[in-house]
Amino acid sequence: MLIFVLNAGSSSLKYQLIDIKSKELKASGLVERIGIDGILKHEIGENKKLTFETSIPTHKEAIELVLRILTNDETKVINKIEEIKAIGHRVVHGGEHFKESVLVDDDVIRKIEELIPLAPLHNPANILGVKICKELMPKVPNVVTFDTAFHQTMPIENFLYAVPYADYTEHHLRKYGFHGTSHYYVSNEAIKLLNKKDSKIIVCHLGNGSSVCAVRDGKSISTSMGLTPLEGLVMGTRSGDIDAGVIPYLMEKKGLNHTQILDYLNKKSGILGISGVSSDLREVIKSANDGDNRSKIAITMLCDRIKKYLCSYAGLMHGVDAICFTAGIGENSDLIREKVCEGLEFMGIEIDKEKNSKRDKGNREVNTKNSNTKIFIIPTNEEFVIATDTYNLIKK
Ligand code: ADP
Repeated sequence: MLIFVLNAGSSSLKYQLIDIKSKELKASGLVERIGIDGILKHEIGENKKLTFETSIPTHKEAIELVLRILTNDETKVINKIEEIKAIGHRVVHGGEHFKESVLVDDDVIRKIEELIPLAPLHNPANILGVKICKELMPKVPNVVTFDTAFHQTMPIENFLYAVPYADYTEHHLRKYGFHGTSHYYVSNEAIKLLNKKDSKIIVCHLGNGSSVCAVRDGKSISTSMGLTPLEGLVMGTRSGDIDAGVIPYLMEKKGLNHTQILDYLNKKSGILGISGVSSDLREVIKSANDGDNRSKIAITMLCDRIKKYLCSYAGLMHGVDAICFTAGIGENSDLIREKVCEGLEFMGIEIDKEKNSKRDKGNREVNTKNSNTKIFIIPTNEEFVIATDTYNLIKK
């Protein structure tokens, strides 16, 4: 059975066509620069890569183009669109309402729209994706999977901010956490590897956006992102944790309004802001190796912040059975994994440098034999979770 997985952003669209029974990835791709000019990078299976540059004024043209390419004579992986049996959409914010994936109906769309103030950049584009699919493929069921849903199991003491309680009840002010689909997938893989249910797992999702999650017995109990994806780790262009007092101080000193200060913290800070080189960690590692001091500081800050969360979550769970690394940096950078684990031997965390430095695909264990805590590299697969949830819901 074929499931189409869609992740609609404000000017981009990621998609995968997955055969859920055989777990085969039929095709995948990314449409970028929607409304500007338009470029589509399409992959058939895992090898054949195609690029199309054409005018893509809106998301509707983008989805129409993808559907044409999936069925066109030269590029087709299916004969007709009707072979797609369901569509799974990634939605960033599900607030407190959505604790799991759901089948889309008018009420679900209305509730996601009500959550726009909590995710003004993401939820509108996500809903647009759903609405266009309903229009283009009216007979096909749609399912939505939320980035926040996995974290809905956090206990209240871990999701409240220490501010007047009424702002939680009246204004929904709390930590929601993000990357939930990835934290769920990776911790679930780790549980299988550990072969135990009563588990204490810490997942480090390290990409352009990064977060850490403490997973106790398969449930998220704390995570580093907050009301918005700005809190927590030092990220590509985001500051992560800062003293809230920084905000009025900088607004006054630099004459910034509230949009500009958010732009500063979201787009100009983090690895980019400290190094002045790039938000792409590969470039920053290269420039550190060439002797650039600010790049070295940025890398140390990134690793120390992760270490701080690791230790605090190990304390919160009274131990840790496994630390998992995932996403672009977590899966690919042996340097970052090594520096994060460095010095944690006192807690029984010992990385095997040789195993860690080997490049490979798939889940792997990189701790020493003596390590009390397992250290896993687990490539994330959010699309597979969305496709599986979609299949399970339409099967019902
Ligand atoms: P996104 O959050 O946009 O999905 P990814 O998970 O793809 O991002 O991660 C992107 C990050 O991964 C970039 O900072 C990139 O530099 C980093 N990255 C990818 N490969 C490596 C590598 N071999 N070494 C260090 N960093 C890497």
